[in-house]
Amino acid sequence: MNTGSENLKVAGLEVDVVFKDIKNMHISVYPPVGRVRVAAPRRTTEETIRLAIVQRFSWIKRQRQQLLNAERQSARQMVSGETHYVWGQRYLLDVSKSSGAYGVETKGNTLWLITPGGTDAAGRLAALDRWYRRELKAVVPVLLQKWQPILGVQAEKVVVRRMKTKWGTCVTSSRTIWLNPELAKKDPRCLEYIVVHELTHLRERGHGDRFVSLMDQVLPDWRARRDELNDAPLGHEEWDHDLA
Ligand SMILES: [Zn+2]
Repeated sequence: MNTGSENLKVAGLEVDVVFKDIKNMHISVYPPVGRVRVAAPRRTTEETIRLAIVQRFSWIKRQRQQLLNAERQSARQMVSGETHYVWGQRYLLDVSKSSGAYGVETKGNTLWLITPGGTDAAGRLAALDRWYRRELKAVVPVLLQKWQPILGVQAEKVVVRRMKTKWGTCVTSSRTIWLNPELAKKDPRCLEYIVVHELTHLRERGHGDRFVSLMDQVLPDWRARRDELNDAPLGHEEWDHDLA
C-alpha cells in the first residue's frame, strides 16, 4: 500500500506521483511550466506508473506545448494589427480610436477597441476582458433555457470566472456552474458543450459510464466539440487525461 507522494523521473521527465483512494490512474499537466502529476490508486506499482507515462508521452508533450502557447498568448501588447478571437472568428485589433467611454465593436474582420486617451496595454486588455465577459453572460441564459428542460436540471447560479486549467466546472453542492470567460473567444458550439457538460454534472457527478451515456444521448457530437476546445491553449477537466 502506497501513501503520500513521491517523485519519479521518467524519460527525463519529472513526475509527481500522489497516491489516493481512487480507482483509476490520472495524469495531469499543470500550468505555467507543465508540471506532470500522476494521481494513482494506492496499490499501483512504480512500473505501472512508468509505463503509463511512457504510453502517454506524446499527449504530455502536446499539453506542455499548449501551455507554452498559452503563455505566449497572454503576453499581448494590445496594439493595432494583433489577432484576437471572438466566438471562433478571427479579428484584427484596432485601437486607433479613442473616446471618453470604453467601447468594443466588431465590424468586418476588425475588432475595434475604443478607450479613453492614454489607456495603456493593461487597461486595454482589461476593457476587452470585461467585454468578453458581457458577451458570455448575454448568451448563457439562452443556453440554460434550452438545455435545463432537456436534462431536467436547474442550475442555481452561473458564474463567469477565470480559471487557469478549466473551461468550466460545476459545484454540485450549490448547483453553481463556473464558466471561463475565454469561452467567448471560441466557437459557440464549444460553449454549448461546456454548458451541457456542467449541467449533466447536476445529474451525474463524475465522468463515468452514466455521465458519458447521458452526454451521448443529449449531445451526440460532444467529443468533436471537446476536441475543438482542447486544440486551444486551455482545457476543461479533460485536461486531466483519464488513464482508465
Ligand atoms: Zn466534468
